[in-house]
Amino acid sequence: MAVGSGIAHYNGEPIIEGTGIGLLVGVSPMLALGGLYSLIMWWQPDLPRCRCGKTKYGEYQYVGQMSEPFTEETWFENRCPKCGRRYKSKSGVFNEVLPDGTMVPYMETSRWGRWVVASEHHPPE
Ligand SMILES: [Zn+2]
Repeated sequence: MAVGSGIAHYNGEPIIEGTGIGLLVGVSPMLALGGLYSLIMWWQPDLPRCRCGKTKYGEYQYVGQMSEPFTEETWFENRCPKCGRRYKSKSGVFNEVLPDGTMVPYMETSRWGRWVVASEHHPPE
C-alpha cells in the first residue's frame, strides 16, 4: 500500500517530465537526420524498382558482390524475390542479368540522381 502510493507520487514529480523533454531534445536531431536520410533514399534509392514492379529497394535478396579485375569497381548482385530476375549494379548503373549470364542495361541514374530507364540504343559512333 505504502509502496504503491510512493510510485504514483514519484511518477508525478516534475523532474521526470524534465528528463523526458531533455531526452526528446537530445533525440530530435537524430530524428531529423533520420528523416533527411529517408527523404534522400526516397529521392535516390540505391536500387530502382524491379521490372516486375513488385520489388523496390530494401526488398531484394542480396546475392553477393564482385570486383572487376581492371577497374576495381564493385558490382553488387541482387535477386528479385518475386519474379527471380537478377540484377548487377554499381554506382549509377543497374543491369539485368539474363539466364545465360549476359548483362542488359536496365536503369541508370540521371544527372539529378534519379533512376531512369537506360538508353538501349546509343547513337552510332
Ligand atoms: Zn521482380
